[in-house]
Amino acid sequence: MKAALAVLLNNLRALKSEGVTDVLVSDDALVALRQRIAGLAKNPAVKNVPAENFLSEAPPAVAPKLVPAQPIIPEKPKFDPELSNARAKEIPPEGAKAEQLSALRERVLSDPVCNEHLRAGKKLVFGIGNPDAEIFFCGEAPGAEEETQGEPFVGPAGQLLTKMIVAAGLSRERVYIGNIMNWRPEMPTAFGNRPPTTEEMSYCLPYLAAQIEIVRPKVIVALGLTAINGLLGFDPDRRIGAMRGRTLEFRGIPVVATYHPSYLLRNDSVKSKRAAWEDFLIMMRIAELPISERQQNFFLPRS
Ligand code: URA
Repeated sequence: MKAALAVLLNNLRALKSEGVTDVLVSDDALVALRQRIAGLAKNPAVKNVPAENFLSEAPPAVAPKLVPAQPIIPEKPKFDPELSNARAKEIPPEGAKAEQLSALRERVLSDPVCNEHLRAGKKLVFGIGNPDAEIFFCGEAPGAEEETQGEPFVGPAGQLLTKMIVAAGLSRERVYIGNIMNWRPEMPTAFGNRPPTTEEMSYCLPYLAAQIEIVRPKVIVALGLTAINGLLGFDPDRRIGAMRGRTLEFRGIPVVATYHPSYLLRNDSVKSKRAAWEDFLIMMRIAELPISERQQNFFLPRS
């Protein structure tokens, strides 16, 4: 343990010298560190050693007694997509789309892996909208508001998405909105979001794919790079700018790639708004929605 702590400290010092000011430490690791330090402090043989020396590279006055490692926190279930795949297939193959979606929702909300990764008091998030929707919006993962309300895109990014949907002559009730992830990827604090890992995305994908199969929309709008990677498979070299305007497909359904509304909130320029709107126009053409002249010219300079 002492050697491991010295290695950890060295790594932290190296990161600090590179200008890193914050590192993520899991709750499990913090508990382990605190337990170890508390254990050493109680040992009379090392009682007079200053606290900081417990973590220094110099050997302690008396070598701490080795104790067998105790599992501190039970291991979380591994991400085995075979489980989510099997659960997603348990829905009735026949029946109304609404019934199928409701059965699938129940499978997601009772999924042990999804629940294991949920923060205390928070909710899993399943897709919402019209089972016969022609347009399926696919986001990344629930954020703080979404995991509180258990509904996708209800926070600030969701409000912008709703405005864009309305600008396209649609409503939230007419489209379907889902996410790659069913839970908000865990962070050590209540603040901030992180993109899901490929393992997390692969675990949730069968549930998203099943929603798409049931709804069978005319077009999927992938909101941001994570949504594209989740749908098409992870590619570290992929860039959102290069995916926009390209002919993409998920299981035979056209996919339109566009910026995530959170990106548009951070980059509030006419240029990025027009770019996203052009992607919406592509979506509208594929879905054979009427496009007015006003809609055609949104965010263009007036002559
Ligand atoms: N961002 C997403 O990608 N999905 C949500 O549901 C909310 C914010």
